[in-house]
Amino acid sequence: MVRLRDVLDFLKRVNEQTRFKGIVRYDEPLSAHTTFKVGGPADVWIRPSADVFEDYAASLLTSARAEGTQVFILGGGANIVPQDAGFRGIVLDAGGYAGLLAEEPGAATFAAGSPVDAAVETAAIRGWGGFEFLAGMPGSIGGAVYMNARCYETSVSDRLMETVVLELDDGVFRKRAIPFRETDFGYKKSPFQNERIGADRQTLILSAKFSICQRESAFIRDEMDARRKDRETKGHYRFPSAGSVFKNNRAFGKPVGKIIDELGLRGLSRGGAMVAPFHGNIIVNTSNATATDVRLLTDEVREIVREKTGFVLEPEIIFL
Ligand SMILES: Cc1cc2nc3c(=O)[nH]c(=O)nc-3n(C[C@H](O)[C@H](O)[C@H](O)COP(=O)(O)OP(=O)(O)OC[C@H]3O[C@@H](n4cnc5c(N)ncnc54)[C@H](O)[C@@H]3O)c2cc1C
Repeated sequence: MVRLRDVLDFLKRVNEQTRFKGIVRYDEPLSAHTTFKVGGPADVWIRPSADVFEDYAASLLTSARAEGTQVFILGGGANIVPQDAGFRGIVLDAGGYAGLLAEEPGAATFAAGSPVDAAVETAAIRGWGGFEFLAGMPGSIGGAVYMNARCYETSVSDRLMETVVLELDDGVFRKRAIPFRETDFGYKKSPFQNERIGADRQTLILSAKFSICQRESAFIRDEMDARRKDRETKGHYRFPSAGSVFKNNRAFGKPVGKIIDELGLRGLSRGGAMVAPFHGNIIVNTSNATATDVRLLTDEVREIVREKTGFVLEPEIIFL
């Protein structure tokens, strides 16, 4: 088991090699960094500033890989459920690396830590169409690319042109640009998923370049307002949650939310976690839910659906 002291010694060595600027906290509750408001303490939570982010993250990941220290890359925390016991290792929060990095005709590049909604605003101010569908969606640009987030019949991959990442190359994390390839992505799937923490294929997304088009500002605003209002009406912001719990699947013939509704599971609860009374495919934190409550309720819903319909639901939210 990794001990806190080892992690602190490790961090000290990294900070001696590479200049650090940003925020570091020890025993930081992850509930403060997830939209579900669940999760115990991380040994170390670290948010490097934008000006040192690339170098520092490369150095941290390289040393962590060499020494066997676990690093979890955190975006906006809008799709994760960390354990109540917390995380033994370092949580590297990309939130300090935010903003528009570059623009060129037909394309805009955003840093991974940019909140999605802020990127949508930046685009709207400049009259760039193409991002309106994401208005109001929680999370970061890096997380949205990782998850290949999707709403209103559009996926992030429909706009993606290139991703710049840090990836392991001969023992060292180096920067590499990956041009978009349609076959790498699918429904809520990206090539970055299923990469185990600390494993060879762990990749940190640094930035993403998206295609944009010039569009009348009034139309952009109207569409953004409509998306935000729709989310509000559907109750997305009423309680802490991580949005949809399960992925949809065409083979089911109907949305997962409808299947759960028809089985009468709205309102089913475990501790402080409840299947939203207003949406079958959202679990909400009604009152001090634990990560265990969320996990048990997710498993229970999955089991009831499997028993009654034969459909095996695939969770979309990530249990660390
Ligand atoms: C109210 C609500 C509504 C939602 N609606 C939608 C919706 O309509 N459609 C949809 O698809 N999702 C939706 N979600 C889920 C969530 O917003 C998305 O999955 C989002 O893309 C997650 O991004 P994040 O930055 O919060 O990622 P996190 O939750 O922080 O992380 C998710 C995964 O991405 C990885 N990751 C994050 N950043 C990086 C990076 N820079 N490099 C490498 N890996 C990284 C993490 O390691 C983790 O494995 C909703 C969530 C909420 C709370």
